[in-house]
Parts: sequence; C-alpha cells; structure tokens
Amino acid sequence: MTANETLFARAQRTIPGGVNSPVRAFRSVGGTPPFFTRGMGSRVWDADGHSYIDYVGSWGPLILGHADPATVHAVQAAAANGLSFGAPTEGEVELAELLTRLVPGMDMVRLVSSGTEATMSAIRLARGHTGRDTLIKFEGCYHGHSDSLLVKAGSGMLTLGNPSSAGVPADLARHTLVLNYNDVEGLHDVFANEGDRIAGVIVEPVAGNMNLITPRPEFLATLRELCTRYGTVLIFDEVMTGFRVGLTSAQGLYGITPDLSTFGKIIGGGMPLGAFGGRREIMEKIAPLGPVYQAGTLSGNPLSVAAGLATLRQLEAPGFYAALTEKTRALTEGLTAAAKRQGQRFSAQAIGGMFGLYFAATPPGTYAEVMAMDTAAFNRFYHAMLDLGIYLAPSAFEAGFVSAAHTPADIAATLAAAEKTFAGLAA
Ligand code: PMP
Repeated sequence: MTANETLFARAQRTIPGGVNSPVRAFRSVGGTPPFFTRGMGSRVWDADGHSYIDYVGSWGPLILGHADPATVHAVQAAAANGLSFGAPTEGEVELAELLTRLVPGMDMVRLVSSGTEATMSAIRLARGHTGRDTLIKFEGCYHGHSDSLLVKAGSGMLTLGNPSSAGVPADLARHTLVLNYNDVEGLHDVFANEGDRIAGVIVEPVAGNMNLITPRPEFLATLRELCTRYGTVLIFDEVMTGFRVGLTSAQGLYGITPDLSTFGKIIGGGMPLGAFGGRREIMEKIAPLGPVYQAGTLSGNPLSVAAGLATLRQLEAPGFYAALTEKTRALTEGLTAAAKRQGQRFSAQAIGGMFGLYFAATPPGTYAEVMAMDTAAFNRFYHAMLDLGIYLAPSAFEAGFVSAAHTPADIAATLAAAEKTFAGLAA
C-alpha cells in the first residue's frame, strides 16, 4: 500500500468516510485521496512525496497560494501575543473597516468562524428584520450546512447524488422555496404569488457549487428589483466569489447591491473566518443592538483576523485582479483549444480567479444543463490529470481556483498535461 492508502485506511476507522468534509473522500471520482503534508505557492505535496499543481487552493481561500510569507508571518506574530481572548481586539476593527470600504453593500459587518455561520446568521437576520419566515434559494446553490439551506443544495450534496439532507425537519424545509438559477420567469411567478411572505432570497451571484454558472444579466437585476418592491432581503452569498472575482466582489463586478452579503474563504486567508454584513438599518437588528441573536466564542479570532488582513491588503495592489483574470483565462482558453485539437466535447470559462470545466459543448447556464454533463468523461480526465501532477477539485460539480502564485510555467505544464490527457481520452 502507498502512504496515502495506508493513511486513508487508518482514517476510515475513526473518522466517518476518513474525512472531515465529504467531497474530500473522492467518492465521485473514485480512488484514494492524497493526504497532504505541505503546500508552497502553487504546489502541494502528498504523503507519498508526489507534488501537484493545485487548482483547489483549500476550496478557494488561498488566492495568494500556499504559505504566503506575509500571511504566515502575520499569523505567527499574532499567535505570539495570545491565541484568543473572547474580547474585542483592534484587528477586528481594521478588518471591519477594510471590508466595509471595499464591499459596496456593506455598511456594517460581523465576523464569524465559517461560511456556514455567516449564511445561517444572515437568513436569521433577514427573518428577524422582516418578521417573515419564507426563504428562497436556488437549486444547486450551496450555502453551507445549516438546516434551512440543505434543501436541494450543491457541492458535496450533488457529488453524493443527494441534494437534500436527512435530519432536516420537514416543517423547517417547507419554509425554503427552491427555484431554478437564472430563471427570471420563475422569480416573477413566485413573487407575484407570495412576495409579501418572503423574508429573504439567498443566491450565489456566480454559482460555484454546481461547477460554475454565470448569472444572466437580467437574473440578478430582476432579483434586486423584486426584493426592493416586496420588502424582501436580498442576500448575496459571496463566500466563494468574495475577493475571488474582483476587489469589490461579485456585487461590484455586476453593479448590483444586495441588502446583506456573506463572506468566508479568502477573507480568512486560509484560517477559519466568515463574515456577514450589509445595510446599517438591518445590521442594527443584531444583538446586542437588536433582537436577533448571534454569537461565537472564537468569532473574530486574532489569528484568523491577522491572516485575513495580511491577505486582503495584498489584493489592493494595482493590477492584481487584471493579472489573475488574465492567467485564469489563459488556462481555460488553453484547455478548450487542447480539447478541440483532440476532438473532445469540452468547454471552459473563467471569471476573475475562478473557472469551470465542462464535458459539454458549451458552458451550462442552468442546473439541468449541469446535470446533463458527462461525469464519466470528467472522472477519466480527473484521474489522468492527477497522475500527471495536476490537482483539480475531485468532482464535476465544483469550480476551480487559480492563485497569484501560479506561474506561466504552471499554466503551460497544466496545458501540456491536458493535451496528453485529452489525446488519451480520444484514443
Ligand atoms: N456559501 C458558499 C457559496 C460556499 O461555497 C460555501 C463553502 N464552499 C459555504 C457557503 C459554506 O462555507 P463553509 O464551508 O466555510 O462553512
């Protein structure tokens, strides 16, 4: 047995599925997940000593690559001063100031420890603010694992082929209405019928948990207009898109301002951190100012805040996103060209530093189109690429990420591996 296989067998004896988050188990692509021992820049190393060019980046946080020196240094310096206080610190204020300055829809913000906590708290706030119970989400969007949001969700739920979880009371699930992403007609219908009962709409402004689907321009605009008209709280879940698609996140990119937004991943620089924030009058409903309760022992943890600040400050460098966008586009255009040369039915697209790969002639625009993709072809592609040292997300339903640490040589090596892989699939 290889070292990875030995570790995986051992892990499965004490950890369900051997993993602490389901998609890590490689269930959909099959095989043994590499156990990582080290990461540096664009690369990771596994227990067998293999190295890979990493396009997962811890599922999005690592926009500067692994072990970014300034981020690591900031965490070390913070740790030397104490790991946690459960009391306010100046770093939290700095991070709040930075987030409210850069994110268009954010007047006030509260820090939490994960994306799940951020979305869970934002929907409680939407309900508390409006005095209504109904929540709208979109099929295939994933917003973390709180009860109300595990209804027809994406990411690991799609990977495991079961988009709704056991253990969510039917009484609770009935308050979550599920619509089709990009379906403008469906929005008009549901608001016409129940608009005055809808507390909030939560949406990924670019869907990144059913592979990658970009929003039709009228989709986000219609959402904004209907939510305003009916007094419904519009929540952009920017846990993935936040600081990934641009410095002002998806809301800045599309020029549509939500009432609340949720963040995670990049804002913690690889440490556990999430945030929800938005319009002042809504945020003032949170305890201790208002009646909506939300709290956390480790919220605003000094190490997480230090990592987040050290990361975010580097994203403000002129040209950062132009370079990241250009590099990500070079990757997706190169992959598409390689597939074409090898006669493969394949497409790809990038937005900022995130990308989607599709075993379909054109990028999907709906959940149904995602589900119609050739997952068997993806799985063959996945393992061939892994064998050639390219680490992609182990599921056809996930987006990929490029970091500032990826070099032109990394992109060229990835394209060479893909050319070989597509040729193998064709043979
Ligand atoms: N929302 C979105 C859009 C996400 O992509 C994720 C995680 N992938 C979450 C929420 C949940 O975040 P976390 O895993 O940090 O709880």
